[in-house]
Amino acid sequence: MSDTTSTDIRTQVVAAAHQMYADGLVVGTAGNVSGRQADGNICLTPSSTPYDDVSLDNLAIVDLAGTPVEGGNPSSEKAMHLSCYQKFGEVGGVVHCHPVHGSMFAVAGKTIPAVIEEVIVYIGGDVPISNYATTGSDELAAEVVRHLGDRSAVLMANHGMICVGKSPADALHTAQVIEHTAKIVYGAMMLGNVTPLPEQVVETFSGYYGMIRQSWAK
Ligand SMILES: [Zn+2]
Repeated sequence: MSDTTSTDIRTQVVAAAHQMYADGLVVGTAGNVSGRQADGNICLTPSSTPYDDVSLDNLAIVDLAGTPVEGGNPSSEKAMHLSCYQKFGEVGGVVHCHPVHGSMFAVAGKTIPAVIEEVIVYIGGDVPISNYATTGSDELAAEVVRHLGDRSAVLMANHGMICVGKSPADALHTAQVIEHTAKIVYGAMMLGNVTPLPEQVVETFSGYYGMIRQSWAK
């Protein structure tokens, strides 16, 4: 893990939450952001709080098992965030959001194909889709992490998406890349053709993703 301090990570969580809202990846108080502190505890955005009000003063800090350590009431989707950190020691940030175009694929039950190089580099390949489970449930948490071993993101059926990264900022970048790609793929579908990348390119860039994912642990 990085040697950034807990304050650095908390500042990143607040900044990523504000940017996620500004980018239109969520509306109202939906979505949530978290980060793994240097001490191993997890800081999460607070439950049902307008993004303008999310600050260092109301983040919720819990241990890896979810026991409150300090701060406010954690997001209702806490279990999903914690599962990502419990299962993948290299993950340092998690972003959950409901962007329009990515969610369109999630509702249609379609993966987002990796037809642009950066999707393979940052996500690892096609963005998979998990089976439906109720918001906030342990079943949903188990369902999403099933897909995050070789991918940095998964669409959540009839809901939205969750992205993991080396840091909260990194996970937000992944969400931005996916939403950008979802728009492009949707447009290409309307134009009548989604052309796959050459197989050799997919293989080469998958290798880059593997190296990047390994570097998260450093
Ligand atoms: Zn949600």
